[in-house]
Amino acid sequence: MSYCVTYSESKVGLLLSFVKIKHCNCLSDNCDCGSKFYAVINQCTTNLLPEYLNCTHIHEISTTSENIVVDVSELCRINYYINMGDREFCAKPIMKFEFN
Ligand SMILES: [Zn+2]
Repeated sequence: MSYCVTYSESKVGLLLSFVKIKHCNCLSDNCDCGSKFYAVINQCTTNLLPEYLNCTHIHEISTTSENIVVDVSELCRINYYINMGDREFCAKPIMKFEFN
């Protein structure tokens, strides 16, 4: 199961994992200096579907060999991830207000 996320406003990638990083040098396990969570993301390139499909909320995506680590506050949205064998797609959840 993969999660396809939108991060840093409009970039798309597959969420690989979360990491917790402490910003101190305590060696104790019960350090309470605070830590931050980061998301490890495989960056994807996106392509719009052909215009005649009139389906702007779905993009075809391609994974890349580039993984990046971003602060969880950069995560914007979890999208639907659709794997069709050799092709992968990312669908933005449709919000009710968009039907108005
Ligand atoms: Zn500490």
